[in-house]
Amino acid sequence: MAVFKVDNVEDLYEIGEVLGSGHFGQVREVRERATGIPWAGKFLKLKRGVGSRLGLERKSVEKEVEILQSLQHQNIMALKDVFESRAEVVLIIELIRGGELFDFIAEKESLTETEAIEFLMQILEGVSYMHSKHVGHFDLKPENIMLSDKQAPNPDIKIIDFGMAHCFIQGEEYKSMGGTPQYIAPEIINFEPLSTAADMWSIGVITYILLSGLSPFQGETDEETLKNIVAMNYEFEPHYFSRTSSMAKDFIQKLLLKDQRERMTAEECLIHPWIKPLTRTQMAKRNRSSINMKNFKKFNAKRKWKMSYNMVSACNRLCKLKLVCKTKALEQQELRECESDQEDTETKTASLLRRRLSSSS
Ligand code: ATP
Repeated sequence: MAVFKVDNVEDLYEIGEVLGSGHFGQVREVRERATGIPWAGKFLKLKRGVGSRLGLERKSVEKEVEILQSLQHQNIMALKDVFESRAEVVLIIELIRGGELFDFIAEKESLTETEAIEFLMQILEGVSYMHSKHVGHFDLKPENIMLSDKQAPNPDIKIIDFGMAHCFIQGEEYKSMGGTPQYIAPEIINFEPLSTAADMWSIGVITYILLSGLSPFQGETDEETLKNIVAMNYEFEPHYFSRTSSMAKDFIQKLLLKDQRERMTAEECLIHPWIKPLTRTQMAKRNRSSINMKNFKKFNAKRKWKMSYNMVSACNRLCKLKLVCKTKALEQQELRECESDQEDTETKTASLLRRRLSSSS
């Protein structure tokens, strides 16, 4: 069992503004009192009892912490410290000020494939490193790809949220139903044994969106999206990919493969000619091709709208839940814990795909 510090986190850190929220708690800016250094604090509510619907299993938090402790890379969010109280665990993590990569890109007027590749390469470097440590992230999506500092001339990519990550042990099979419908690989939906190749599928989806502003498998509902993935129902619609190089399409096609063993690894991606051109002609093609900025901006605006919608409906559900709690005369403490729980924000299918449903055998 992992040992976390039992000091009161507020004695050592001043707690500041909310930076973001997840399913199981909030991320806030914190300042180390002894040094004045700013960090981020990820406050995760723990389940209070076996039957409790709210909060996370301690084991699940331990897993996230152990994985983060094993990873030290420029493109992966760093973990500094962990504190535990009766009701929550606080992860002190590197403060990432630059926001999401997709928001940063959406603010631009135009972007060539070469410029987009600068970011993609860093994602691949981070993923290649974690895979070399046998860690799969299993929730790679735009929300989890941030930038260190968007004012910097060359900001660093930071991969965040290792809540669904898994460290593979040789000879041990791992299955999980975790993930976000748009980005998950077919083997996850089919509940087959997984490998780090599931992350490579997600990178294929992210690249497809980045270039076209279209989500390759997106259906009207989550169920439809999942069906499209299993049926490998995607194409490069000429209208949206008119400015995309053939090398970029080749790159995506080598990731969106049903057979996980055939997908490119992150290492292989880094030497694909689209990422690392071998000839001047390849380089020139990349410079001439650009991302479909008009549609990308639309995609991003819709994505942000959906995120806020989910947040508002989560608040509404929590208000209702609080009412129920009140009528049942639950303790005041329990009520406070309801506030940051967002288990109910997703549809049935999506909520099926949370981190609780993973298993090793
Ligand atoms: P999920 O519900 O997606 O599993 P989670 O509870 O695991 O989320 P995170 O995704 O890690 O939480 O963080 C929630 C949000 O907080 C992020 O989307 C991001 O906006 C913000 N955030 C997370 N980590 C940091 C950080 N190190 N620095 C700044 N902001 C952060």
